[in-house]
Amino acid sequence: MSNKVRGLLLVVSSPSGAGKTTLCTRLRQEFAQLRFSVSYTTRKPRPGETHGREYYFVDPADFTEMVARDEFAEYALVHGNNYGTSARLINDALGSGADLLFDIDYQGGRQLKAKFPGDVVLVFILPPSLQELERRLRARNTDAPEVIERRLRVARDELRRYKEYDYIIVNDDLSRAYDVLRSVYVSETFRCGRQQAAAEAVLSGQQVLDIGGHLGAISVLGPRLEEA
Ligand code: ADP
Ligand code: 5GP
Repeated sequence: MSNKVRGLLLVVSSPSGAGKTTLCTRLRQEFAQLRFSVSYTTRKPRPGETHGREYYFVDPADFTEMVARDEFAEYALVHGNNYGTSARLINDALGSGADLLFDIDYQGGRQLKAKFPGDVVLVFILPPSLQELERRLRARNTDAPEVIERRLRVARDELRRYKEYDYIIVNDDLSRAYDVLRSVYVSETFRCGRQQAAAEAVLSGQQVLDIGGHLGAISVLGPRLEEA
């Protein structure tokens, strides 16, 4: 037997522009085993976005059909567009012990927590101020002015949802914010509930190795030779 028995579902949310994509990208670069949940959306691709990498870009009729076929673990209307998470992706990941990272809004985080209460860890990224949030959204230069206005209008409402989250990280200095996100991920991996396989294997007389560079994953070698 190898690997973890059950992975974790790491949900990162924030108002648009607070920096969650930047932070999530760094986390994925450092931890190759952390899979990213690519969502489905009816939003049009931004320049540089690729179908299947940032999102699966679908038209509203396809999205509605996917809802009818119950293919989403969660879905929501965000800033006037539909977004949804594939249920199969989550079930495959949990079944194989893989960890999954989600960049989804508070409505999605809430739905996933209700469906997978023991697996979901909710992280909220806070901008240092509303002024800085606006500056970042404009400096990013990826959205039309009216889209930015709309996102700023709902930012306060999104910020009020922080109470539903397990962790809050202020993204002022990017390196410091990243260090905290990284610590949350590492610590959550070693929660008792996620490492039971290791303890039970040692108790049953087997030898357990942690798999180098593969956070929290173990390999059970069977009984040590001298005990066999
Ligand atoms: P989100 O995914 O939350 O919408 P992004 O990751 O796209 O946000 O970040 C929004 C903009 O702010 C980007 O241009 C990004 O480079 C910048 N940014 C992210 N974190 C910081 C930070 N700590 N300080 C300054 N700029 C940042
Ligand atoms: P953007 O259009 O800037 O990529 O994302 C807009 C918002 O939609 C962000 O808050 C992002 O986290 C959220 N989002 C992206 N994918 C999903 C998803 O599958 N479900 C939900 N509920 N929100 C999502």
